[in-house]
Amino acid sequence: MKDSFRHKGLRNKLVEEIRLKGIDDERVLQAIMKVPRHLFMDTGFVKFAYKDQAFPIGSGQTISQPYTVAYQTRLLDVHRHCKVLEIGTGSGYQTAVLLEMGAKVYTIERQRELYLKVQSFLPSIGYNANFFYGDGYEGLESYGPFDRILVTAGATEMPEKLLAQIKTGGIMVVPLGGSDSQVMTRIVRTGDDSFEKTEHGRFVFVPLLKGRSM
Ligand code: SAH
Repeated sequence: MKDSFRHKGLRNKLVEEIRLKGIDDERVLQAIMKVPRHLFMDTGFVKFAYKDQAFPIGSGQTISQPYTVAYQTRLLDVHRHCKVLEIGTGSGYQTAVLLEMGAKVYTIERQRELYLKVQSFLPSIGYNANFFYGDGYEGLESYGPFDRILVTAGATEMPEKLLAQIKTGGIMVVPLGGSDSQVMTRIVRTGDDSFEKTEHGRFVFVPLLKGRSM
């Protein structure tokens, strides 16, 4: 399946819908406009690709709602050449959005099947990231520190090891809370031992789980 004028038209509508919901960051909207989301969906859901909804992607996981992707990406304040660590590769859709914004992306997934699928799929459509199979709670100490860290699953507690992998002046966005819903939390590392935290509304994510899964 390829990208077509029809898909571009649907994407345009999706971007306008997200804009109406309050996302006014043109760089984020441009990235959403470029990524062919229909290629990231399981066959049964392709026709829903440009609905502003989350959908199952196998292994009990979901591709995030485009609005949520846009919201997190805006809070992350990504610039060209930013070194970004993403926790929860999932379908790779968020990874592609970050790459469209010019970031260098390191992404970790704990589900082996998803990791294997995405690391061959994303490069096949021109998106090159560094893929890792592991536990995102641990981060990637040997590749850090990072300008930005984006957690795309709901954490029940602050991932302390990730805090240590943010560069000074860097930003982490992480949904924090219980299993029903999480508060979108933005952390700026202001110094060696100082962090500033702000909260940005409630969302529902699949859980950030400890350890790897076969
Ligand atoms: N960014 C994804 C969202 C996927 S949902 C997308 O755009 O499609 C969240 C993903 O986080 C799931 O694939 C889940 O398996 C993964 N995940 C959960 N806990 C994790 C952990 N500790 N480390 C890495 N990935 C994790």
